[in-house]
Amino acid sequence: MLPTTLDEAVAALSEVPAAVPVAGGTDLMVNVNSGQLRPAALVGLGRISEIRGWSYQDGFAVLGAGLTHARMGRPDFAALIPALAAAARAAGPPQVRNAGTLGGNIVSASPTGDALPVLAALEATLSIAGPEGARRELPVSHLLAGMDMLQPSEVVGYVKVPLLHAPQTFLKATSRTGPSRALASVAVVLDPMRRNVRCAVGAVAPMPLRPLEAENWIASLIDWDGRRALAPEVLTAFGEYVAMACIPDPPPEEGADGAPGAVPQLPPAALHLRRTVATLARRGLGRALA
Ligand SMILES: Cc1cc2nc3c(=O)[nH]c(=O)nc-3n(C[C@H](O)[C@H](O)[C@H](O)COP(=O)(O)OP(=O)(O)OC[C@H]3O[C@@H](n4cnc5c(N)ncnc54)[C@H](O)[C@@H]3O)c2cc1C
Repeated sequence: MLPTTLDEAVAALSEVPAAVPVAGGTDLMVNVNSGQLRPAALVGLGRISEIRGWSYQDGFAVLGAGLTHARMGRPDFAALIPALAAAARAAGPPQVRNAGTLGGNIVSASPTGDALPVLAALEATLSIAGPEGARRELPVSHLLAGMDMLQPSEVVGYVKVPLLHAPQTFLKATSRTGPSRALASVAVVLDPMRRNVRCAVGAVAPMPLRPLEAENWIASLIDWDGRRALAPEVLTAFGEYVAMACIPDPPPEEGADGAPGAVPQLPPAALHLRRTVATLARRGLGRALA
């Protein structure tokens, strides 16, 4: 089935309840080919032109779920939402970036989805199309946290992202050179109007993590009206604050008579991951403020 509008896609999914939507197929077909998924029918979203671009609405960019990573990586998009463009450029090899879409990245909700920490830091919202022309909005973070689910006949149409006109960064560490999945990633977004910093860490947990205390602490130190730079030690402390919040020490063991016992050490792999997150957060903030 190849609908050309969102409502046709919803109608096709409602008609065949076991049908599954497919956009670029880069995630879905891996599951089909491995035998993990045997959908009764596929509803292709690739001909729905209304979700392949973006528009503007009251200070927000309304991004079509069908935007590919390759399209989001181009300079005109990077001028609008730099961190999302950086994430799109880092999302896998060129074949994957040419076919894979923003909507597919969100609905797959893989811990290593590169767009996800950026959308979490931007506090993006989804516009979801449902049966009989229904539309509802849902924060991306609610979907990722499993607080709300997509119904089988619903389709993600758009992703609403604030246009902040301020620096933002996305940095990703991988375990090898060349395109590959994130070991850890960090998005940093400055919001000078609201005088806040938003940061999200990807790949270290099932969903992106927001170190809220670290965000508030660093926002209180930034000279929002002037040009006084943050000292390098402050950037380092921010990186460590973020990393400790996302990869905390294990709780102390219980000693004799219920008294607190020794604090167990983090395993070396977790310590390495914590150092990686600290470095990404320090660099990400430093570049955003530079
Ligand atoms: C070799 C390889 C490397 C990769 N590397 C990376 C990487 O480095 N970083 C990264 O982030 N990702 C990576 N990916 C994963 C993948 O490319 C992305 O997650 C991509 O964005 C998925 O989009 P898609 O359009 O292909 O989704 P699809 O495979 O078409 O769909 C994925 C899921 O989303 C659902 N879906 C899709 N669109 C909608 C919609 N509009 N409404 C409702 N449901 C929808 C489908 O039903 C399916 O369940 C990689 C994949 C491969 C195969």
